[in-house]
Amino acid sequence: MDRSDVDAKPTVVVLGGGLAGITAGLTLREQGYPVTLVEARQFLGGRVFSFTDQATGHRVDNGQHIFLSCCTNLLRLLRELGVLPQCHLQTRLRVPVRDQDGGMALLAAAPLPAPLHLLPALLCYPHLSLLDKWRVVSTLAQVKFMDLRQPSLEGISFYQWLRARGHSQRAVEKWWDFLAAPTLNDHVQDVSARMGLMIFQEGVLAGRHHTDLGYPVDDLSACIGAPAQAKLQALGVVLQLGSPVRRLVVESGQVKRVELAGGEVVAGQVYVSALPFNGLLAALPESVAGDPFFHRLQELQFSPIVNVNLWYDRQVMDEEFCAFVDGPLQWVFNRTRIRARLAGVAADGRGQHLCISLSAAWEYIDQDREELSQRFIAAMAEAFPRARDATVHRAVVVKQRHATFRCLPGASHHRPGSWTPISNLFLAGEWTDTGWPSTMEGAVRSGFNAAQAVTETLGRR
Ligand SMILES: Cc1cc2nc3c(=O)[nH]c(=O)nc-3n(C[C@H](O)[C@H](O)[C@H](O)COP(=O)(O)OP(=O)(O)OC[C@H]3O[C@@H](n4cnc5c(N)ncnc54)[C@H](O)[C@@H]3O)c2cc1C
Repeated sequence: MDRSDVDAKPTVVVLGGGLAGITAGLTLREQGYPVTLVEARQFLGGRVFSFTDQATGHRVDNGQHIFLSCCTNLLRLLRELGVLPQCHLQTRLRVPVRDQDGGMALLAAAPLPAPLHLLPALLCYPHLSLLDKWRVVSTLAQVKFMDLRQPSLEGISFYQWLRARGHSQRAVEKWWDFLAAPTLNDHVQDVSARMGLMIFQEGVLAGRHHTDLGYPVDDLSACIGAPAQAKLQALGVVLQLGSPVRRLVVESGQVKRVELAGGEVVAGQVYVSALPFNGLLAALPESVAGDPFFHRLQELQFSPIVNVNLWYDRQVMDEEFCAFVDGPLQWVFNRTRIRARLAGVAADGRGQHLCISLSAAWEYIDQDREELSQRFIAAMAEAFPRARDATVHRAVVVKQRHATFRCLPGASHHRPGSWTPISNLFLAGEWTDTGWPSTMEGAVRSGFNAAQAVTETLGRR
């Protein structure tokens, strides 16, 4: 990079080091901007992180993260960070689906063009009647070509939309909600029809490989936060970790500086906030936070996720992961098998680390951790016969109350784009108007969007 080119460009201060802030910082730095990234915690990654369980020394994720092949911006970032080899991406969708009575089905894509690729799996899917299947197929055919910008789709829930099209309660639960809830971290009753339809249009119907499922094989911080930190530092981004933002100082319609909790001040010419919406509102001066543009962020809400990690003294589950169509278990990930995909990591033939991922976890978020562990040890024993005689020698429950923002009907009206009324302040964060739900893909898109808004604005000037 030509030094004089760097010096000529205004300094950008990025606030927040989650995927949105990482992407914005990386993109702007690659375009020659001097970048300072300010992050409250001592590490990057935001809501994608791991910690060490002090009792055992095991690395534990804040929650199992998965993505689909249609997350093209996330995949681009992972490629750029050089961590794609640390992720597993299916070559064709394959999800074992269990029920609480021990039944097993396989949701697998066939080598046919979309949307026909899911037809054989749907026809064999044991949880729907023939009439339900017919309705699902005809609705999917309709959804593929729908214009989701129709305002009416934002005003009603996905559940209302489905019921108005004759889908039975059973089809709603065993098909639509089964697929939508883990993606949107909310049930179809609570999400807007637009967002519910978007995930089927984009994730299921747009291409045969869009549904291929991927996940980090190593722990989340090793896979994302640490490589991102190394990459940003190598490019010369100034990282201020462990530095919570206290206040943005706004004068004459411009951000002048950022005050940190420790009393330090960071200043640049341009600012990108990649903070969560509540963090941004708390950091803005009252008069700015009261502006209708920012005030509407108060309407956004969070939905919780709970992960129950269990370490068994033996192998109780064969699959790498499986989904449950009923009962308290939703998705169970076999962390021991997943980690064994890492080059050089031998599969531990004795014990097994399983992670039960619970979306829209309103029922569990305030429950005592010990009670939760016992409840899910019992549920596992019902579902997996080998778990009945096994000993669980460690349980770690991870609760994330503010896991994702909610795509409630009307929520998209409260999601701003990258530009703000403050001429040198730009927004990133998965909650901004990316058209995507609260996902890693949404966060990365928002970072690219904000970087593009900065370069366009500075280009115009
Ligand atoms: C348990 C769980 C499971 C999930 N599962 C999936 C999944 O399977 N697939 C998927 O795609 N998505 C999943 N998500 C959602 C996904 O993790 C988020 O949508 C995404 O990571 C959000 O990124 P972000 O950069 O927009 O926000 P964040 O990651 O929240 O980044 C914001 C950053 O700002 C920092 N910050 C906050 N306040 C301040 C302050 N005052 N000063 C300085 N810094 C501050 C935070 O520390 C954080 O690093 C999951 C989330 C959770 C919690």
